[in-house]
Amino acid sequence: MSQPTRRSVLKTGALFACCGMAHMRLARAQMVEGGALSVTEIADGVFAFAGIPAMMLARNQGRICNLGFIVGSDAVAVIDSGGSVAEGKELIAAIRAMTDKPIRYLINTHMHPDHIFGNAAFAATGATVVGHHNLPRALEARGEFYLKSYRDSMGSALMADVRIVPPTQLVTGEQELDLGGRKLKLIAWKPAHTDNDLTVLDEQSETFFTGDLCFLGHLPTMDGSLRGWIAQLDTLKAIKAKRAVPGHGPVPAQWPQGLEPEERYFDVLARDIRKAIADGVPIAKAVKTAAQSEQGNWQLFTEYNERNATAAFAELEWE
Ligand SMILES: [Zn+2]
Repeated sequence: MSQPTRRSVLKTGALFACCGMAHMRLARAQMVEGGALSVTEIADGVFAFAGIPAMMLARNQGRICNLGFIVGSDAVAVIDSGGSVAEGKELIAAIRAMTDKPIRYLINTHMHPDHIFGNAAFAATGATVVGHHNLPRALEARGEFYLKSYRDSMGSALMADVRIVPPTQLVTGEQELDLGGRKLKLIAWKPAHTDNDLTVLDEQSETFFTGDLCFLGHLPTMDGSLRGWIAQLDTLKAIKAKRAVPGHGPVPAQWPQGLEPEERYFDVLARDIRKAIADGVPIAKAVKTAAQSEQGNWQLFTEYNERNATAAFAELEWE
């Protein structure tokens, strides 16, 4: 268990012991307001938070994806900021419980709201926001829509602080960041989960932050290119790492074994959709049956499989 959690528990316990039920509720509220995310040190100086497998809602404050930070001799790099400014602030509190070194980089692995809605929390830290060279354009196109649509699901109170903060340091191909004797290798991928996927490899501990190029438990979601994702799986697998932090799912994950479930799902989905196209099955019918054999293997299957199948059909019918 991490230090922030122990501290939070101690704080709550002390208030509860002396002040009773009403104050325990107050203590819980304070933990949500000023608490720290419960992070685990998965390798020396590498910390990760495991999001819950759920849709982004007011009650979970958007805490659905995995986040992390890496502490070097001089500075800290953060990987993704979370699904709300509230979560971003809790991530900063978790960092501050571990180190007072400056937060030099906030790395965004891609455009999705669960990974970037906490960016505004980092404005006061002076961190440089780093992202794929396609990320600014993607946020320009989608940002307003994200802000509007998540006001409905997460509520206007939680969304009031959320801003679209695009990266100012852009990655094309590969780029190295230095935290003081600790090098991070960033790779900008071709379209797969999105058209702006970026991964982070901590070379010292051989820990690989995959962003949403790897899903475990939570059904993968398709917002880029199914063919592109499948085509890059072998290159992903070849990344030498001792452990991975997937975008969603248990932390840490085995590498490259962590890619196997999504690879199987993609194969089934592509096979079913290609067969439907060859048989002349209309899209509306094909997306209802595609990859149904995978249902028992995934969380949030009902929420996302039909959308994935629709995207796959649109992509594969032009092969
Ligand atoms: Zn995503």
